[in-house]
Amino acid sequence: MDGKAKICLSDLTLERLTAYIVGLGQPKFRARQIFKWLHQKLVTDFSQMTDQPRAFLEALQAQCTIAAPTIRRRQQSRDGTVKYLLQLADGNCIETVLMRYKYGNTVCVSTQVGCAMGCRFCASTQAGRVRDLTPGEIAAEIYAAQKDSGERVSHIVLMGIGEPLHNFDNVMDFLEIISCPEGLNIGMRNISLSTCGLVPKIDALAQKHLQLTLSVSLHAPDNATRSGMMPVNDAYPLEELIPACRRYQKETGRRISFEYSMVRGVNDSSAMAQKLAHLIEGMGAHVNLIPINPVDGSPYSATDEANVRRFQHELERLGVNATVRRRLGTDISAACGQLRREDAQAAT
Ligand code: SAH
Repeated sequence: MDGKAKICLSDLTLERLTAYIVGLGQPKFRARQIFKWLHQKLVTDFSQMTDQPRAFLEALQAQCTIAAPTIRRRQQSRDGTVKYLLQLADGNCIETVLMRYKYGNTVCVSTQVGCAMGCRFCASTQAGRVRDLTPGEIAAEIYAAQKDSGERVSHIVLMGIGEPLHNFDNVMDFLEIISCPEGLNIGMRNISLSTCGLVPKIDALAQKHLQLTLSVSLHAPDNATRSGMMPVNDAYPLEELIPACRRYQKETGRRISFEYSMVRGVNDSSAMAQKLAHLIEGMGAHVNLIPINPVDGSPYSATDEANVRRFQHELERLGVNATVRRRLGTDISAACGQLRREDAQAAT
């Protein structure tokens, strides 16, 4: 053993993979071929790369790895939603969800093992953050779902475990890999990234001018209510977050959407709807209403459907475009982080 850590080829953008392969004394075109094996043909073993010289594959095998999570648990909902508990090479587990919509299959990916943000209603963050996922590990979630289902994935949402903007560089490389024509070639317009509101990172993302949809988890229209639900609001209160959202729209020309998880008696009154409409006035932003999915150990319960509708109509009356999110997979504990947590608890 030489003690040198192996490099995971799945983590490299085409540009970096090319630099690496050329550095090994190989011609440039081999990098493109290998990228296609990894990200288009989705192989997980070097021996499957049949157009490569044997000696070269042996050299790669000796110093490189490929991200290849295993499916530890698989739950299928009556509505066709499939939730996977994937085990990574180091034994950590994450969740990935495949949802079937009329417009195509959507995969919801995790971006971290656990989460440091501490939102009080969210199961993903209850045990904190363990580590960031690498670009190749995030991409491999999609590959696992595509291979298991045998169906093409056309849309991606970064709404699983973790805060994507708290793992900024890896998430940017993941986006480059997944939208690469030599890979799955998923268009940025088919990708949504959800954040709890890390203001400096929203500005950094704006500078990338990506055509993805940015979703901001707002959940409350005033600082007292929002800080009660989301500690991140103490660091980046609404008077910083909302201007950052407006800057984002101006810089990218893309409308953002706000997530609003509805908690009975906390953020679901008609007065809250009015405050919300006022807060985001003139943005043309879309609001997605989601009855909260109650998790163990959380004091919150969900707003009932009639009240969600009332809240929606109040917003619409005030000129705000709002929809109620269709809930998929409710029979398979599809709220973020629930499966991973159940698994961790079963193991103790
Ligand atoms: N960290 C990112 C993305 C992960 S969660 C973010 O905060 O946006 C995706 C969405 O689900 C977020 O809007 C989050 O606030 C919401 N969410 C988390 N737990 C929930 C629950 N138990 N019920 C309803 N929505 C929840």
